[in-house]
Amino acid sequence: MQHIAFIGLGNMGAPMAHNLLRAGHALSVFDLSAAAVEGLRAAGARAATSVADAVAQAGVVITMLPADRHVRELYLGADGVLAHAPAGALLIDCSTISAEVAREVAGAAAARGLAMLDAPVSGGTAGAAAGTLTFIVGGDAQALERARALLDHMGKNVFHAGAAGAGQVAKICNNMLLGILMAGTAEALNLGVAHGLDPKVLSDIMAKSSGRNWALELYNPWPGVMEAAPASRGYSGGFGSALMLKDLGLAQQAALSAQAATPLGGLARQLYQLHQQGGHGDLDFSSILKLFRPRAGGDR
Ligand code: NAD
Repeated sequence: MQHIAFIGLGNMGAPMAHNLLRAGHALSVFDLSAAAVEGLRAAGARAATSVADAVAQAGVVITMLPADRHVRELYLGADGVLAHAPAGALLIDCSTISAEVAREVAGAAAARGLAMLDAPVSGGTAGAAAGTLTFIVGGDAQALERARALLDHMGKNVFHAGAAGAGQVAKICNNMLLGILMAGTAEALNLGVAHGLDPKVLSDIMAKSSGRNWALELYNPWPGVMEAAPASRGYSGGFGSALMLKDLGLAQQAALSAQAATPLGGLARQLYQLHQQGGHGDLDFSSILKLFRPRAGGDR
């Protein structure tokens, strides 16, 4: 059993921390939200009063934060993780952030003699709750072996993408493709329905034809086609459009730094930007359908 500091107890972090508790680990937890900390304390974690308090005894530090600036501040800040983590602690950041910041923070950790992994996840809030996440890991192979047993308590697939930052690059490639696929799926469904087709029948046809894809088959954006999908509950829960917009921005940043052409990723980013400006940033990312059928509001 390892003593773990878990920081960032939001939609993803809280269920991940619950799974570690269920597996018998001792956890010190910290979040800026007192309510989030209380949820874990009630389940048996120790409520830390600060980052320093959370990491003081930790063999492993796991973080799950929104974006670059939160991760930089939390790790590199004067009272942050690197200032207080004990010698020998393993640091695992599961947030989706830029590869640049992941490398910067891992470099600063290495300068303190601490091993660090970037380990963004795929699988959403349902995967976090079920313990079936996919971890996409960048960093040293030996550090990954130290982390593997813990990751197995929160997920079912662990991939080693390469050196520090490589996990973030792979995650961003995946999410750029997902954004493109979701927008394309919404566009195709809307075209068929505009011609009088039933969205369920059209989905069944395309799912058995060459247009089949994950968004169509498992996360259908048309309300009522798939009972369990966010589209059938007013686009609540799931993966927020604002987070998808963030990831598409990270993909463009990565494309610029490597001079790689990503025109479809750029277009998907514009669509999600418009969608956010329309006030839909909090809705699940499959709500991009609303952009294609604004009069009906996508709520058929
Ligand atoms: P969230 O906003 O629900 O949770 C983030 C948590 O971090 C919040 O509770 C916030 O209070 C806390 N926090 C922020 N700054 C902090 C600080 N300095 N100290 C302590 N706590 C701090 O976000 P989420 O949905 O859990 O997503 C977290 C990360 O996982 C993001 O990078 C996101 O892109 C990625 N992700 C999310 C999903 C999803 O479906 N929600 C899926 C895959 C990956």
